[in-house]
Amino acid sequence: MKTGYSIKTWKMRLFCPEKQMIKTTEALYREAVAFYYVLLKEREELCAENLLTIQGHLEKLTVSGRDGREPKYIPPGGKLPVYFRRSAMNKAAMAVKTAASAESFPEKIDANITFFKGMYKDLTDTSVVLKLWNGKKWIWVLCGLTGRPFPKEAAILSPTLVHEEKWLMFHVPVKQENSDARAAKERMQEGARVCSVRFTNTDSFAVCTVLDEGSRQLAVKNCRGGNAYRHHCRALLKKVEASRAFTDKDNVSQPNRKYYMHLKHLNEHYAHQVSKEIMDFCKENQTGILVLPEYDEDFSRISMYRSGNYSPLHLSIRIRNYLKYKAWAEGILVLELRADGTEKQCSICGATGKKQGSVFICQNGHQVNRFLNGARNLGRKCQESFRKNNKPS
Ligand SMILES: [Zn+2]
Repeated sequence: MKTGYSIKTWKMRLFCPEKQMIKTTEALYREAVAFYYVLLKEREELCAENLLTIQGHLEKLTVSGRDGREPKYIPPGGKLPVYFRRSAMNKAAMAVKTAASAESFPEKIDANITFFKGMYKDLTDTSVVLKLWNGKKWIWVLCGLTGRPFPKEAAILSPTLVHEEKWLMFHVPVKQENSDARAAKERMQEGARVCSVRFTNTDSFAVCTVLDEGSRQLAVKNCRGGNAYRHHCRALLKKVEASRAFTDKDNVSQPNRKYYMHLKHLNEHYAHQVSKEIMDFCKENQTGILVLPEYDEDFSRISMYRSGNYSPLHLSIRIRNYLKYKAWAEGILVLELRADGTEKQCSICGATGKKQGSVFICQNGHQVNRFLNGARNLGRKCQESFRKNNKPS
């Protein structure tokens, strides 16, 4: 299973109302980098250490300690803000490492400012606040940004100020998890089996089916226990209600804590049980990819509201999360795919149809459990989306 991260640089244009302050800050930064660079050059044995260790040594040499330690060397400007100097130390350390491996130390090094946390704040797609040096003091300055918006759910790393011709650019490293879809494509090409899931609000927490690469159904699994779960929860909620009358006026922070803890454990217990059943089913049938249904936000909100807080469907949120990490541990890829339309089609012949109670009946008379019908269609929809992408253009 492929895991890990990729880092891309987001290049944005920066508009700073204080051009002069950018200049003085950059000048101070270059001085600082040169200062640390010289210190390190004289201590070549440090080059082999990691950046953090090097930083520690430089701090000892240049910053006074709480224990009254006097620094041997004073950095430019006397005292530099902690994240400003650490950024400069890192830059100098990397320059020395590079120089050491090339066995030639340049006289001067060119350094663009990298803003560590603490030197910038409120970074959005359209603006950032930078801590700049005006020659006398540090000032927070709001700057504009233009460029494509950051990807969702990505980690933003320390940005660097770069001059490109007459423009001021803000290079922002963006760390993203490797796309599962890319890995899934490879698995599909290798003929991986797909397990698709449909969560329900009945006695079945989930109905699952395994399809082979030709979309033929190999196995079906029904994870029951929804009614028992609902029953347990109701009994506990009644106790909560009953105890409220006695504890409401008490000066207690969580009067029904005992029962709420029971409820929490009940949720965890059932979510573990169901996710384990699904994982076992996947393993028994050598599934490479697990497909979970995704709905649009409004639909999810409404159906969750209707099904209530302690319902099998509501528990699917937790089951889904457990499935994600359990599948990961088993080397099974999880994909979430929009389930729109998967209920309205017959999974046997593709014709439209309608539900009657728990059964889906198509125009051609096929009858299938409606949840199984939805699960099968979801699995096929997933397989088809990959086939489409693989067609030679
Ligand atoms: Zn049919």
